[in-house]
Amino acid sequence: MFHDTGETVYGFFYNYDKLLECPECLHCIKLRKDSSILNCYNCGFQKNLRHNGLFAALWGRNDGIVYGCKLFLRTRACGHELWAFNKEHLDYLEGYISNLNRHKKPNINQSVASRMPDWMKSSRNRVKLINALKKLRRKLEKF
Ligand SMILES: [Zn+2]
Repeated sequence: MFHDTGETVYGFFYNYDKLLECPECLHCIKLRKDSSILNCYNCGFQKNLRHNGLFAALWGRNDGIVYGCKLFLRTRACGHELWAFNKEHLDYLEGYISNLNRHKKPNINQSVASRMPDWMKSSRNRVKLINALKKLRRKLEKF
């Protein structure tokens, strides 16, 4: 049984650390939720995400790009990019997709569950999505 907490995609973005892929060495960079500096401990890559005091574009909903970097938890599935900002977001997606019995929180229109694209809700894609999420889980566990 999946209980929708009503968490929004913005919540997963702003309230938790984010995992990005280092553009130089492809290792995982953990971007702390209150930080604006990308810092790769593997190769020393650094990038200040503030430009003229402002953050650059947030994320591409369809391609899993954040601040010009790829998300670390990102893979192809069913002809689309499947991605998660962090462990919390991955937990949520796994919970949603692997449970057919879903308890929807009423009156929450912005929640991730209520905004899930059709290809992620389609039962036809379920097995492929579960396998893709397992791949992301293994990637997360290795890091
Ligand atoms: Zn690096």
